[in-house]
This record gives sequence, structure tokens and C-alpha cells, in this order.
Amino acid sequence: MSRPLRALVIEDSDDDTELLLRELRRGGYVPDFARVETPEAMSGELKAQTWDIVFSDFTMPHFNAFDALSLLRSTGIDIPFIIVSGTIGEDRAVTAMKSGAHDYILKGNLKRLVPAVERELREARMRQERREAEETIRRLAYQDPVTSLPNRARFRELVREAVAGAARDGHSVGLLLMNLDRFREVNDTLGHSLGDQLLQQVGLRLRSALFAPDVVARLGGDEFGVLLPHLTAPGNVEHIVRKLQDFLQAPFMIGGIPIAVEASTGVALIPEHADDADTLLQRADIAMYRAKQMATGYTLYTQEYDSHSPQRLALMAELRDAIGHDQLLLHFQPKVALKSGQIVGSEALVRWQHPRHGLLMPDRFIATAERTGLLEPLTEWVLADALKQCMAARREGIHLNISVNLSARSLHSPRLAEIVERALNDEAADPANLTLEITESAIMLDPAGAKQTLAALSEMGIRLSIDDFGTGYTSLASIKRLPVNEIKIDRSFVSGMLRDQHDAMVVRSIIELGHNLGHTVVAEGVETREMYDFLAAMGCDEVQGYFISRPQACKPLRTWLATSPWKIRPPA
Ligand code: C2E
Ligand code: MG
Ligand code: MG
Repeated sequence: MSRPLRALVIEDSDDDTELLLRELRRGGYVPDFARVETPEAMSGELKAQTWDIVFSDFTMPHFNAFDALSLLRSTGIDIPFIIVSGTIGEDRAVTAMKSGAHDYILKGNLKRLVPAVERELREARMRQERREAEETIRRLAYQDPVTSLPNRARFRELVREAVAGAARDGHSVGLLLMNLDRFREVNDTLGHSLGDQLLQQVGLRLRSALFAPDVVARLGGDEFGVLLPHLTAPGNVEHIVRKLQDFLQAPFMIGGIPIAVEASTGVALIPEHADDADTLLQRADIAMYRAKQMATGYTLYTQEYDSHSPQRLALMAELRDAIGHDQLLLHFQPKVALKSGQIVGSEALVRWQHPRHGLLMPDRFIATAERTGLLEPLTEWVLADALKQCMAARREGIHLNISVNLSARSLHSPRLAEIVERALNDEAADPANLTLEITESAIMLDPAGAKQTLAALSEMGIRLSIDDFGTGYTSLASIKRLPVNEIKIDRSFVSGMLRDQHDAMVVRSIIELGHNLGHTVVAEGVETREMYDFLAAMGCDEVQGYFISRPQACKPLRTWLATSPWKIRPPA
């Protein structure tokens, strides 16, 4: 088998170069090479074409391996660098490896050359693949898959940048949040795929109504965000909203059916209504909610809305009561270890049994609780109840770890460690049995603060997990510095991985990177046997999802545990 190899040889001797090439040819390589012996020549060759590998002599009259190495480094090109030289002594060889050479081969022992080349090329390829995978994760993490517009995480970042820019230069920033009215009906009657088409077209029309620096993002569901980073006059915003509404006027043709879309738009401005990005987003949200309530189409934020958001306020007041009056309950969803097929833990998911609205899912009330300071009592209640049930089960010989979700607000509360500690003490629970799940986005809100809180929790012996991983923009490097034990791959990637290669690649690389960092990798949203098997084949550690069980209340879960094909891990 002949293998082409583009080799840059840094060497002052023709004979030695010939010996090197002969050895490569013997190993099946067909070297396409250039020989250089000065830094200038090396720079020139690196610019002139791409190389697979560099071989360098240790010392030459005008050059040496250390300088060649740092020259290569300075270009950012990541290819194997192998020193081929006469004896240089153990010390210098070690120093060379430490400064980044990939291997060191004695001219008298060239039979080591080919195996080293093979190994280093393989490793370089893996590094390259990993870089590409990280790049894909980053891209996907920032883009809404349906519309290809920036997603919520990216939008928030762009809003931050715009706000910083405004603070510097003193101009205005406009933020519009738009909610499509009756989108859910469209989705329910026409199905998701036509629903997605509608969202795409709405995205396109909004985009075409605006100018380049303006941003259109899909924030999830039927919600779009528009950022006007550079408003010349605050009065212009009304004009822009009207223009957007005009662009949405004509019906959309979806599956041959004309569909009329209306949007409720809330607007907030810098500097009129806020001076930081989060407040700005929050106020635009309040204005949008008001617009929807009053069916006004468009509302500019005013302070009185803060206290006049009636439905939300009512829910908040009720939530306060609900916590004290036994209306909250936990459902538990088991986690299975793929290697053993045993149930190793369960995640506590809060629900609100509302006297009139029925069973409310967390997305209906967690955000409200976050906004209103009710989150702390809620978290306290969840922790206490989860640990109570966990300990009760243990007394009956069911040894499952328990995972509890924390939201961004709790993570950044200075009292968190104290609350957790008290909950553990109250139930005399072992911290090692508790996992706290924190979303990636919560960490990114304040990485330095998060790191401190996580360190304190970790020191208490609690396990920490990054939830919904892949959806935020946590660089893997920053995770490395966090005392985390587990990574949960976001459901969106898991659900797409069997039909979408990108999703599969993201899942695979999260597993690989998680393992490199020594973390347990969990996949959530596993709904079928095929997904289960696929994850097992990729070496994922644990899975959670409807395939194993939906979240269930404690009692039915006990019955299920007793009869399910999955066995509980025996007590350690
Ligand atoms: P999460 O922590 O990522 O929880 C997983 C969510 O996915 C749960 O939704 C669960 O019911 C759902 N799920 C599990 N398996 C599958 C599956 O196979 N397919 C599909 N389609 N969905 C699956 P849920 O219970 O509505 O919770 C939503 C989010 O609310 C949670 O996401 C978590 O971030 C938050 N949350 C839940 N309980 C609490 C809590 O006590 N405190 C806080 N702060 N947040 C909570
Ligand atoms: Mg979770
Ligand atoms: Mg999750």
C-alpha cells in the first residue's frame, strides 16, 4: 500500500535526508518533501502548501529543533513534529518533548521511524476531528435548528454586546419580543412539520424587513426576538414595529393553505427602560405579555406593567400558597446504567397540582418563581421532599441516588450551600447520594460565581451535573475547571441523533470529551430501543427517558420498580 506523505524536512545533510526518505518509503510512504535548513526557508514552505508532518534535525549551523518548533507553533498549524537526530542526551530529549515535539528518534535507530509516524498522524487526525466536533457543537449551540436563526443563548449574548456598545457610545438600543398568536393551533391542526415551515417563513420575512446590523432570533416555541443595536432615535422603534407587522400581513402559504399570522410585540429600550441586558429582556417580555393580554398588537414597556401583569401575578400569589399547602409534588424519573442495565438513580421533577388549572409542568411556573423570589422556598421544598423520599426508599432497601434540578437563580444565591446542607442534615442523608443538576446556561450567566458555588457544594461531597449540555455555549475548556461529575446531553441532540449526522456527531463528541474529562455522561430523552442501543454502542454511561419510564409519582414508581425488567443496583 502506498501512502502519500507531505513531509517538511529540516536538515542540513543530504545523506541524512536520503536515509530518512528511504526509511519512509520502506514503510510504504511516498514522500513529497521539501528540505530546509533556515527559519526563512521553513516559513516559506509552511506558507506555500499544507504539510502532513515535520521532521527536524536537532542542531544545524543556522537553525535548531527548538526554534523550528516555536516557529511551527506560531503559525497555529497542528501537525506532528518529530525530531530525528544523532544522540542529544536524555535531558535535551526530554526538554524537546516538553516543548511540544511529538517524538524523538535517533538517526542510528531509524526502524522506530515508521511506527512513530503512523501513530502521530493518527493522533493528529483525532485532534483535527475533535476540533471539528467542537466547532459543530459551538455552531449548533448557537443556532435554532428549525429556522437557522440565532437561538436564545446567542440572542442573549448579542443583546449583551449591544448594551455594552450603547454604554460606550451613548446610543439607544431597541429590543422587540414577538409572540405569534394562535401558533399552537396551527401546530396542532397542521402538524409539526408544517408548523416548522411557518416558523421558517416568519423568520425570513422578519429578516427581510430589517437592515444588516439588526438581529432576528428564534427564542423557542412561537417566540421571536428582534434586536436593534443602533437606534438613531427612540421614536423610530414604533415605525420599525409597524413595518414588521406589515411584512407579516400577507398570509403565509403553508402546505397549500393560506395562513394569517399576527404577532404580539413587546418593546423595551436602552436607556429608557433598563441599563443592562437581562433587565431589558425581562421588560420587553413584560411588555409582550401585556400586548398579548390586551390584544393590542404592540406595547412599549412602562413601569406600571410590572405590577399589572394580572395573570402572572395571580399565579405568583398562588404559588406562594401552594408551597405551604401541599400542592407541589415530585415525579421521579429513573436513570439506567448502560453497562449493567441497572437502575442507579432517579431525577426529581417538580409539578404543581393546581386546584383549578390541573397538573402544571415546571415550565409554567419555574420562570415566574425565579422572577419573584419564590424560587428559594421552592428549591428548599424540592430538596427536602426529594431527600425524604430517597431516604424512605433506602430504608426499604431501594438504594437510588437522587438528582435535583437547580435553576440559575438558585445557583447564584449566596445561601445555596447553606440550604443544601440543612436539607441533608434534616434527613440525615449522605451527600454522596445527592446529585445537583445545573443547566449550562445557568453557569454561563456568571462563570466565576458559579465556580465558587460549585466548589463549595463539591467539597460537601455532593455530585454535580451539567444539565442540557450542548445548548449553551460553555467552552469545554471552562468545564474542565469546574468540579463537575456528570454531563447530561441535551434531549434535542439525543432525539435527532438517529436521523441527523450532526446530532450523532455532537452526541459522540460529548461522550468522548466527557470521558476525557473523567465525567459520567448521561443521555436524556431516550425514547426508543434503537436510541438506547445506539448510545450503548457509543459508550454512553447512563440513560434516562420515556423508553425506560416517564417521570412518575413515588407510589406508582415503587410498583413499577418491583415489576420492571430493569433491576435496581444492589446496595454497595
Ligand atoms: P430537565 O432537568 O432537562 O428534565 C428533563 C425533562 O425532560 C422533564 O420535563 C422530563 O419529563 C422530560 N423527559 C424525560 N424523558 C423524556 C423523553 O424520553 N422524551 C421527552 N420528550 N421528554 C422527556 P419536565 O418535568 O417538564 O421538566 C422540564 C424542566 O424543568 C427540567 O428539565 C428542569 O430544568 C426544570 N425543573 C424540573 N423540576 C425542577 C425543580 O424542582 N427545580 C428547578 N429549578 N427546575 C426544575
Ligand atoms: Mg434535569
Ligand atoms: Mg435536561
